[in-house]
Amino acid sequence: MACIFVYWDYHLHYSFKEMGIISKVVRSCLLKFKSQNRTIMKTMTCKQLGGACDKKFHAETFEEMAEKSKNHGMEMAKKGDKKHLKAMAKMKDMSQEDMQEWFGKKKKEFEALPADE
Ligand SMILES: [Zn+2]
Repeated sequence: MACIFVYWDYHLHYSFKEMGIISKVVRSCLLKFKSQNRTIMKTMTCKQLGGACDKKFHAETFEEMAEKSKNHGMEMAKKGDKKHLKAMAKMKDMSQEDMQEWFGKKKKEFEALPADE
């Protein structure tokens, strides 16, 4: 809601000189509004997610991303792709704790990513 006030302040009170500075704030606010109305997709590669190739996944949430990468990994493993089988075996060797840590780290990585154009 604060953004709305910034927006109106911009129109009612600020001089042209000040606008240069303020408009940056307004612009970021408007972008925020825009992004609320559309889905934000992010991209990660199979390799980034502990896999073995450069296949790109697009997802709104990290959980969705992890699911897509898992499905892809399983599909590739079914086809007998050695690189993916190796990557999956490595994941399976992880302890529950390591897995959680890895998951948390990757989730942060996902959140820090810029949204797709
Ligand atoms: Zn892959």
